[in-house]
Amino acid sequence: MALIVQKYGGTSVDGPERVKNVARRVVETKRAGNQVVVVVSAPGDTTDKLIAMAKEITSNPPARELDMLMATGEQMSIALLAMAIQELGEPVISLTGAQVGILTDGVHTKARILEVSCDRLRRELDAGRIVIVAGFQGVTCDNEITTLGRGGSDTTAVAVAAALKAEVCQIYTDVDGVYTADPRIVPGARKLATISYDEMLELASLGAQVLQPRSVEFAKLHGVVLEVRSSFNYHEGTLVKEVNDMERQMVVTGVAGDRNVARIAIYDVPDRPGIAKVLFEALARESINVDMIVQSAMRDGVNDIAFTVARDDLAKALEVTQKAKEEIGATSVAYDDKVAKVSIVGAGMITNPGVAAGMFACLAEEGINIHMISTSEIKVSCIIDEEHLARAMRALHKWFGLD
Ligand code: ADP
Ligand code: ASP
Ligand code: MG
Repeated sequence: MALIVQKYGGTSVDGPERVKNVARRVVETKRAGNQVVVVVSAPGDTTDKLIAMAKEITSNPPARELDMLMATGEQMSIALLAMAIQELGEPVISLTGAQVGILTDGVHTKARILEVSCDRLRRELDAGRIVIVAGFQGVTCDNEITTLGRGGSDTTAVAVAAALKAEVCQIYTDVDGVYTADPRIVPGARKLATISYDEMLELASLGAQVLQPRSVEFAKLHGVVLEVRSSFNYHEGTLVKEVNDMERQMVVTGVAGDRNVARIAIYDVPDRPGIAKVLFEALARESINVDMIVQSAMRDGVNDIAFTVARDDLAKALEVTQKAKEEIGATSVAYDDKVAKVSIVGAGMITNPGVAAGMFACLAEEGINIHMISTSEIKVSCIIDEEHLARAMRALHKWFGLD
């Protein structure tokens, strides 16, 4: 008997008919002779609506209470899905993150899973039940409810699969698998049969929201094979796993775009040791992730520093940067929240010089200006104006022969 973990995303449980559809698929898997644990997200755009409700009360909701509120979305889904499965005559139980024992750190709204306790899950499975687990949420050792960051149900599923040593972790969503680019933006995008953990991690981190980056990191660390597929058909999906070099053919595997980007610049920063430390340590203390950093060439003993953060973090990042400006004696701070990041990803880039140059040539041909650049062994990213993002993604997709 195999143990299978299935995760169904928000669109897949949006409304009673879709919940019943998921129930049928789960029951099929159980009746084929498997033990099944199901992780579900909040229905549709429930999480967005909950955040909007909080913002109607206060522009800056306390993170603990925001978690308390956001965690209710997933609780709706687990109860409704358990009811639908019961209707089909299968024994089932729904559990919150806390009831399972999904232990996290205390960083509200972006907590990290420390441990998943298997006792309750095993007991329920051994009693012949299907177990439905609320995604996206956990609990600290002080019994505080936390959430795992947007898209966090993917990570719940992988963590549960790793803890139970499941055969496979299936991620059911509203597209047929992982594509060479977001198929909603790039019509010529193709479904990949397999993709390596490293490439998937880059794509996810660079804005391909089909998987939460942390879930891919976790899967790689614990050797969990992920299967991304649609909950609306039975087409073959995409396997995310270790891929050896022999299997690689493409220099560029995919194109990603991210609109959750804002650029902050701090001007006339004195050019002496310790300045970057003051600024970036202050941002780190507030759990703000800084992505790209560019420092201009020095002139008259000062230079400018520009960096990017998630747009969600912009207000807080500006507050911190303003304070740091006083401390380090810079003259002014500016920001731009109408930028986006376009990236190309591919493990074959390391051995193929000229890939970055190709990207710049393509964007130049499109007349798209590049504000910032960053590269690693398997990706090149450019910050551009947000209005050009979709066009840039389509052009790059074609340029690198992915259409
Ligand atoms: P779920 O609610 O099931 O978690 P998400 O909306 O989080 O679904 O993720 C699925 C979406 O990810 C798709 O609808 C698609 O628009 C988007 N997406 C972005 N990049 C890619 C990609 N490279 N391949 C597939 N889907 C992608
Ligand atoms: N419901 C949460 C979100 O919208 C978690 C998830 O969908 O994975 O981000
Ligand atoms: Mg998601």
